[in-house]
Amino acid sequence: MKKVVIIGAGVSGLSAASYLAKEGFSVHLCEKLGQTGGRARILEREGFKFDMGPTFYWMPDIFETFFTHFGKKPSDFYNLVRLNPGYSVYFGKDDCLSVSASLEEIYDMFEKEEPGSSKFLQKFLEQAKYNYHIAIDKVVDKPGKSPFELVMPETVANVAEFLSSVSHNVRKNIKSDKLRQILEFPVIFLGAKPSRTPLFYRFMNYADMELGTWHIMGGFGMLSKAMENLATSLGVQIHTNMHATKINVRDGLAGSVEFTNTATGQKSTIEADFVISSADYHFSETLLEQKQRNYSEKYWQKRVFAPSALLYYVAIDKKLNGLTHHTLFFDTGFESHAHTIYDTGEWPKEPLFYGSFPSITDSSVAPQGKECAIFLIPIAPGLKESDNTREHYYNQIMDRLETLTGQSIRPYVLFWESYGVKDFVSDYHSYKGNAYGLANILTQTAFLKPSMENHKVKNLLYTGQLTVPGPGIPPSIISGRVAAKAAIKKLKKL
Ligand SMILES: Cc1cc2nc3c(=O)[nH]c(=O)nc-3n(C[C@H](O)[C@H](O)[C@H](O)COP(=O)(O)OP(=O)(O)OC[C@H]3O[C@@H](n4cnc5c(N)ncnc54)[C@H](O)[C@@H]3O)c2cc1C
Repeated sequence: MKKVVIIGAGVSGLSAASYLAKEGFSVHLCEKLGQTGGRARILEREGFKFDMGPTFYWMPDIFETFFTHFGKKPSDFYNLVRLNPGYSVYFGKDDCLSVSASLEEIYDMFEKEEPGSSKFLQKFLEQAKYNYHIAIDKVVDKPGKSPFELVMPETVANVAEFLSSVSHNVRKNIKSDKLRQILEFPVIFLGAKPSRTPLFYRFMNYADMELGTWHIMGGFGMLSKAMENLATSLGVQIHTNMHATKINVRDGLAGSVEFTNTATGQKSTIEADFVISSADYHFSETLLEQKQRNYSEKYWQKRVFAPSALLYYVAIDKKLNGLTHHTLFFDTGFESHAHTIYDTGEWPKEPLFYGSFPSITDSSVAPQGKECAIFLIPIAPGLKESDNTREHYYNQIMDRLETLTGQSIRPYVLFWESYGVKDFVSDYHSYKGNAYGLANILTQTAFLKPSMENHKVKNLLYTGQLTVPGPGIPPSIISGRVAAKAAIKKLKKL
């Protein structure tokens, strides 16, 4: 039985492990942290369960497909509910719009805000749906090896979708600043300014408004647990607290991986016929000698990274008013905030932020009568903090939250914890503490992303959000599948 060692048990590593085990390989999935899930982990404190990373469960079809490949369904592992509204957006005090789960209600909301805009939205979404099916049915499973993977009648006929940006299209057709921001919001998940995100990616608007925003009861940790249980049932051996420190290469082939146990300090080596690293790409390459790496430091310095994030996990001793499960706070200027993330690399003065209050939907994530709150401020990767940075932004969030929703909150906070650039670096070895990998701009799309294959070590692949197809939970699950397929093909040849 050929042995595959996978470094990192985030969703991409878990996904790759299951596909390989299903094909009969002996799979060792080695994770540095004490639990699986990677960025999709849960922080549990005093009866509160905070999603540490992802909170938006979008594209439910991708999760269905994944579990179907193993004769299962998501409902075999967790319960999903569709949120209504999907989310709300505060633009100022008493000025809030909600994106309903009903398309008809979204059209009504657009029409009220700007007469005539629902017609544009209808057309916009038709093309968005078309793009979604091109992306999911024809593109995402490609290994990103050649530009020809993108050449097909559907993409050739829609080449304009790659040459224009989401922002350009939306701003040309919609006058209301609020509606513009609602339409530009979904592509922010892809890590770049909407003005640099190709219009093709409007398929995210279809995911948002038509496929809907869902919540896993118990939080995203339930997905990681589900994927872990599936992998284990297929025979994958999962080792936690195993920090990969070196990939040993001889005659152009990876032969073993060295580890240090983070709990005991004990060193060990696992022999391998094939290695896949799902740890952050830049770090994965540091496990190799310089001459065995695909990319230089200069290459990484020139990449446009998606933002990092400053996160707060806040336990509140009462139920809050005026909020929905997902609430965005767009009461300050997006342009000036985006400028600090992508252009100047400075701390923002008055950032937009996002709040998730899962206990509004899910009583299992907070004790009765209390609210579980998660706040996220997107920030430039690589920012340095001073002693009071986290306190400063916490106070700013609380001030704005109290003013916008007209209620006292701070005196009811039981405790709060935060997570930022240096935590992304120490937990995930993330390059400059990026949260979501690379920005999906045209020059970093498909075959222009860091290659899944190591070109110098024949039996080494990379998977996860930094390679194809890109950032987000659904793409990372797909990335694991694409890597597993490529590994199986290569193992047959080797
Ligand atoms: C704050 C935040 C919010 C997000 N929101 C959303 C959202 O709402 N919806 C959505 O779909 N996506 C969201 N994402 C993106 C999504 O979480 C990621 O794209 C996805 O989880 C990446 O999975 P991965 O397997 O590629 O990487 P990771 O989850 O980072 O997994 C890599 C694993 O490798 C491990 N590792 C690193 N070094 C080593 C080593 N030396 N040895 C062994 N193991 C190692 C790490 O500990 C980690 O567990 C969010 C991400 C963040 C950070």
